[in-house]
Amino acid sequence: MRYSLLTHLECSRCHRHWDSGKLQNVCPDCQSPLLARYDLPAARAELQRESIAARPRGMNRWHELLPVQTPENVVTLGEGDTPLLNLPHLGAAIGLSRLMLKDESLNPTGTFKARGQAAAISRAKELGAQQVIIPTAGNAGGAMAAYASRAGLVARVYMPADTPHSNMQECRAVGAGVVLVEGLISDAARAVSEVVRQGGWFDVSTFKEPYRLEGKKVMGYELAEAFAWDLPDVIIYPAGGGMGLVAIWKAFAELEELGWLNGPNRPRMVAVQAAGCAPVVRAFEAGEMTNTFWENAGTIASGLRVPKSYGDRLMMETLYQSHGTAVAVSDEQIRAAQLQLGQSEGIFAAPEGAATVAALPVLLERGWLKNDERVVLLNTGTGLKYLP
Ligand SMILES: *Cc1c(COP(=O)(O)O)cnc(C)c1O
Ligand SMILES: [Zn+2]
Repeated sequence: MRYSLLTHLECSRCHRHWDSGKLQNVCPDCQSPLLARYDLPAARAELQRESIAARPRGMNRWHELLPVQTPENVVTLGEGDTPLLNLPHLGAAIGLSRLMLKDESLNPTGTFKARGQAAAISRAKELGAQQVIIPTAGNAGGAMAAYASRAGLVARVYMPADTPHSNMQECRAVGAGVVLVEGLISDAARAVSEVVRQGGWFDVSTFKEPYRLEGKKVMGYELAEAFAWDLPDVIIYPAGGGMGLVAIWKAFAELEELGWLNGPNRPRMVAVQAAGCAPVVRAFEAGEMTNTFWENAGTIASGLRVPKSYGDRLMMETLYQSHGTAVAVSDEQIRAAQLQLGQSEGIFAAPEGAATVAALPVLLERGWLKNDERVVLLNTGTGLKYLP
């Protein structure tokens, strides 16, 4: 069997197929995000989930279902295989008997952004990119810079001038050029587009590059494996661009096609946003398929400060298809939840991760969550990166 069973890229909107053998960003026809497709029938015939379980730990043990074509091109810092922890004390206090947390803060660079960048930078290098560029709310830039240096690529990161200092210092410490932009990630994105138009730089923006999503989808594979292939009832995700939410849902669809899922259960996917920037919640409540730009976005959860995601349609599809929902929580609720999680379970979560804890009482009060459901929170990063 081939090392990777990647076959082509498919447009998420017009469904045209595109060559995965060269560097691609969005669909050349309709500018929508591209999704990686694999020869899943071949994997179903020749690959066993048990053999993947027996491989050395790390994201790359799923290599047949990832884009990199040869092992020499895999750039790794040890990402993936993060723990799934029970939260018995917090669960008892809130009224949930089977509450769990997947702790992504153990990834290199302290956030789950490492997964996406490991896949994207490995594949970009394999396809000949030499210079990579990204607009970031903070953590994606740090991860991109780290993997680019590891791969021997030149990296440049554009971030809002009020991004947490640790993010800027991290990017510089791992060798990237840092450009500070007045405004939000949307302004940084405009500046990056300008540079990319002039040529020479490969753009690894959220949803404008097809393989970051592939790295993040491995969270879904790992969850399925940890639940003995009988998926949990609810997954609660702090959504900025929403790529992780879409990626986990894609992983479940692939596992279904592989025939690897035991039960019929498909989790309800929940997007949690900050009240100061909640375009997904607003769209969900209006029953819309796309988002409108959120003016004057502001929140301590910098990773959630995304006024409009390029993948908004994919995110909304995931919420509707999974019978999920969307919740906004205030910065005060996030701060209180961060303390509660730390004091009850010893986990110092990033504000984004803490936002998922803050969503629990809201969902219980609405009657949307039942007390004995298997609920998984995604802690996407470590609180240590947000210290002044
Ligand atoms: C980027 C980020 C998010 C949001 O992730 P998306 O996939 O863009 O929705 C959440 N938490 C942290 C810590 C982040 O860095
Ligand atoms: Zn298209």
